Amino acid sequence: MALGEFGIIQRYFSALGSADDVVLGVGDDCALLQLQPGEELAVSTDTAVEGVHFPEDGFPEDIAYRCVAAAASDLAAMGARPLGMTLSLTLPSVDELWLQAFSEGLAAVVKATGLPLVGGDTTRGPLTIGVQVLGAVPAGLALRREGAAVGDQLCMSGNPGDAAGGLALLQGEWLPEPEFGEHLYQRFYRPSSRLKLGQSLLGVATSCIDISDGMLADAGHLADASGVRLRIDPERLPLSAALQSHPAPQQALQWALGGGDDYELLFTLPAGADCPPGCTVIGEVLDGSGVECPIEFDTRSGFEHFAEG
Ligand code: ADP
Ligand code: MG
Repeated sequence: MALGEFGIIQRYFSALGSADDVVLGVGDDCALLQLQPGEELAVSTDTAVEGVHFPEDGFPEDIAYRCVAAAASDLAAMGARPLGMTLSLTLPSVDELWLQAFSEGLAAVVKATGLPLVGGDTTRGPLTIGVQVLGAVPAGLALRREGAAVGDQLCMSGNPGDAAGGLALLQGEWLPEPEFGEHLYQRFYRPSSRLKLGQSLLGVATSCIDISDGMLADAGHLADASGVRLRIDPERLPLSAALQSHPAPQQALQWALGGGDDYELLFTLPAGADCPPGCTVIGEVLDGSGVECPIEFDTRSGFEHFAEG
């Protein structure tokens, strides 16, 4: 017998919601979360539609993981402490095998991010997953896109372009060596949300953004918000071994600069401040506007070609 809405919620989504800050989780009209004195609430929502934001026929565990990790990345970018999340799930049908796997992926990402599932909404329609994340930041201290100052170092966490390489793999456009293929697949479906890093940058970084649209695009947002120019040195970009194994170095660089979905942090540090472990200085903050990267980059033709500049 098919499960009704309440059965689905009860069976698959009610057991992932406990944490110290959760006063009341799934089951009532609202969840209740405890903020500490002197904190502000950080809130962000991301919606992912099958076939648009993730490939059709992906494994439900992976889809769940990726949607939450992507949303959590926005909390990381503000330096927020994770409080909880809500899930708006639109399902084409009630497929219990799918739901079971999806809730296992959710459990894994709840554990990885420290974001308990405290509520949501369940409806019928084309597969769409909306995740709202809630976090807490010390009042007045949240990391913002504005604040980069001339002379700051430009830094990033992790390796750029791996998610785009992973997508190329999923779409059958590139067949890397198996160990690299596995790495890239994981980077696409199971991005690390840099929540600990973000919190460690409070009071240290002068500005921060997470890389979701692509390095150049997001660097552009940070430059605009801060009223500065950013210079990225392409030779300092920390490409993973997997990406470097691509036979065309220009393709790897194109993914590193233009590919989305890495969910790494891009941030600025005052000159002389230590770059945190796992992060790399990739450039600096200059006077002016826009992003400079000494490679010709044609955004109009969809990141098609590069030339030495
Ligand atoms: P209401 O009609 O008051 O909005 P619902 O019937 O939609 O409540 O949901 C009942 C409870 O189940 C609420 O606590 C809601 O937050 C929770 N819930 C509904 N769908 C989900 C879901 N997909 N994941 C987690 N919690 C959910
Ligand atoms: Mg209600």
